[in-house]
Amino acid sequence: MSKGRLFVVSGPSGSGKDTILLGVFKRFPDIKFSISTITRPMRCNEKPGEKYNFVSKNQFEDMLRNNELLEYNTYLDNYYGTPKAPVICAIANGEDIIVEVDVNGAYQIKNIMPDCISIFIMPPSFEVLNQRLRSRGTENEDRIKQRLEVAIKEISRADEYDYLIINDDLNKAISDFSDIIKADRFRTDRNISFLKNYLNK
Ligand code: 5GP
Repeated sequence: MSKGRLFVVSGPSGSGKDTILLGVFKRFPDIKFSISTITRPMRCNEKPGEKYNFVSKNQFEDMLRNNELLEYNTYLDNYYGTPKAPVICAIANGEDIIVEVDVNGAYQIKNIMPDCISIFIMPPSFEVLNQRLRSRGTENEDRIKQRLEVAIKEISRADEYDYLIINDDLNKAISDFSDIIKADRFRTDRNISFLKNYLNK
């Protein structure tokens, strides 16, 4: 059986990456999503176990000590981390899995798993990003300013990624993302077992 692929997705808060991912999962229901463990307080529109599992700082530090995380980072004073086991299991079972992490997390993963495919999602302009963060209505002015500052730093590292998707049209962005997944599934190294069976090797 061929191994699955790890897709690493980043994009500043407000880039629309969550909405794009929803569309991608509709098109590829077989793809797994890595649920991050985080210490940020839960927002009212969030449910534990959907995108995140919410834990205390002590619980997170226990996970770190037990080497349970593939990567982690602090973002605006909170920990965000990717549990290792679900990612390793999916890949070993031949399943594709998407992890959504910030630029530091993506950098760590690329070093440990260089054959992952990394995708950066860009808001079409700074003005649109600003407007999207404000229209959410979930955070105060200071937090929005901090998120915008982090966003600029993240965008300056977009060139570390394999692919860049500009989210100025949602359906197009979902199609662009889907094209990357489809192209990867045609790679010969992902179809070796088919070739071997075909040739009875
Ligand atoms: P938010 O608080 O807006 O949900 O997420 C803040 C940032 O944390 C986003 O850039 C998001 O991509 C990133 N993030 C989410 N999960 C993880 C994770 O498991 N690890 C890392 N390093 N970053 C994450």
